[in-house]
Amino acid sequence: MPVVWSERCSLHDPQREHWIGIATPAAEVPALYAVHDRALVDYLASAWAEWSAAGLADDPGQPRVVPYVFAHAALTPSPVVPAAATAKAGFFAYDTMSLIGPGSWGAMRAAVDVALTAVDVVLEGAPHAYACCRPPGHHACRACYGGSCYLNNSAVAAAALRERVGPPVAVVDIDAHHGNGTQEIFYARSDVRVCSTHVDPGAGWFPHFLGFAEERGSGEGTGANLNIPLTPGAGDDVWLDAVGGLAAFANDAKALVVSLGVDAGAGDPESPLRVSASGFREAGRIIGRLGLPTVLVQEGGYDLETIGPLVLETLCGIEEARR
Ligand SMILES: [Zn+2]
Repeated sequence: MPVVWSERCSLHDPQREHWIGIATPAAEVPALYAVHDRALVDYLASAWAEWSAAGLADDPGQPRVVPYVFAHAALTPSPVVPAAATAKAGFFAYDTMSLIGPGSWGAMRAAVDVALTAVDVVLEGAPHAYACCRPPGHHACRACYGGSCYLNNSAVAAAALRERVGPPVAVVDIDAHHGNGTQEIFYARSDVRVCSTHVDPGAGWFPHFLGFAEERGSGEGTGANLNIPLTPGAGDDVWLDAVGGLAAFANDAKALVVSLGVDAGAGDPESPLRVSASGFREAGRIIGRLGLPTVLVQEGGYDLETIGPLVLETLCGIEEARR
C-alpha cells in the first residue's frame, strides 16, 4: 500500500488538538480550481497575512483568523466580499471552529498535493494508495470552508481521476460525519458519484443542515448522490451494511476515492458511532472487493490513540480483499 504524506501538513496549527499527519511537493492548480472558486482559494492563501497586517493578533489579541459576522442569505442578496479583514472571514467560513494561522495555507496546499500525488501513484499502476494528509477536506464546499476543512482534498482527487480515467468515478465517504462539501461540489453532476454514511444530522450532529437520505442530486446529477444516515450508537452490523450499500452504489465506477475518516470508531470523542477495529478491517475488505483503482484520502479522526490503528485496519482489509 503506497502511502503519501508531507511534512508541510503539520504547519497548520488552529490551536486546537487535532491529528498531525505528515509528507510532499507541488500541486496542480487546475485540479484545485476544478472544484473550488478562485475567490475562496485566493482568500485562504492570503487570510492570515491580511489578518496579521491588520494588527488583529495584537489588538484585540486574536492570533487566528476567526469570523464574527456571517454572510447569511438574508444579508447578501448581492454577495460582495466585505472590506474589513474581520468581516471577510464570515464571507467564506460557515462556522467558528475552523481557524486559520500562519502555517495553515502551506498545510492546505500540501494536503491537496498529497492527494494528487496519490492519484498519480494509482494512475501509474498501483491498485490503491493512501494520502495521509491534513487538514481534512470533505466539509469544504466550492466557495466556503468549515468543519475544520478548507480545501476539499477528496474532491480534488476525484476531479483529477475523472479527467484522467473518464466517467464515472465515485467518492465513498465513511467518515462519521456527512461529507457535505463533496456532496455540494458534485451535486448536479453525474460523472462524479458521491455517497456517504454518517451519523444522522437529524439526531443533532454536524453538519446539521445536510446529509439526509432524500438528497439524491439535482439536474444531470439526479440519482448520483446517496446518503445513508445512521442512528447514534450504531455499531459494526449496521455500519457495515451501510458501507455495503455505498460499495454497491459505487460498483460501476472506473475509479474510487475513499474519504477515510475513522471517527466512527467506538472511542472517538466527536461521534456517537461505535465501530470496532474489526469493523474497519471488514469495511476495507468490502471496498477492496470492488477491485477498482482506489485513492484513500484521510479525513476525520479525533481519538489520537486509535486513529493510526483504525486506518491501518482499513488499509489491511483492502489489501486482503485484493489477494
Ligand atoms: Zn468526521
